[in-house]
Amino acid sequence: MTDGLRIAGHAGRSRVNGPGVRAVLWVQGCSLACPGCFNPQTHAPDGAVTTVQAVVERLLVDREGLDGVTFSGGEPFEQAEALAAVARGLRAAWPAVHLMAYSGYAYEQLRGPAAPPGSAALLAALDMLVDGPFATKALGHGAWRASRNQRVWVLGRPPPTWAAPADAEITIGEEGQVLLSGLPDPGLRRAVDRLR
Ligand code: SF4
Repeated sequence: MTDGLRIAGHAGRSRVNGPGVRAVLWVQGCSLACPGCFNPQTHAPDGAVTTVQAVVERLLVDREGLDGVTFSGGEPFEQAEALAAVARGLRAAWPAVHLMAYSGYAYEQLRGPAAPPGSAALLAALDMLVDGPFATKALGHGAWRASRNQRVWVLGRPPPTWAAPADAEITIGEEGQVLLSGLPDPGLRRAVDRLR
């Protein structure tokens, strides 16, 4: 699918989903089912399809002050063709954008013959990848990683910073919606769930 993609959420500003200050696009749909996944609501491959052009325009309109954009999920590489088109559209209008994705697939899988369609194009468009499935047995993370088995790959330009100022952040939306993002500890997650 190259004309659109399923979106689970969007954050205009985040400091915990990659280096620097970034917009984040969470896609809808993931077949990997990592035990203990923080985002089970993003697994079903359903919901409305948004055009690539609309996604690009939404990300560009608020780009002032941002270092880049992160694709997360859900599983970005299960919509790789559309996200590669988003990445190309962003790069054309915003040459300095730093593009990053998370994936539950290993980098070697994404480069192999069984990779989801469009994986090579998305990898070619990215500056950075954090790969590998979330593993509760390997909890304890470094910057931007949820578990120790995950790896940070620099595929293009270097990140704007290697500093990771916090593990998690809470954003209050214009309509009062509460977004908990990053890698919160279970106590914080329960406290925020009570606010919803
Ligand atoms: S790849 Fe990500 S969204 Fe998919 S199950 Fe694993 S942790 Fe959850």
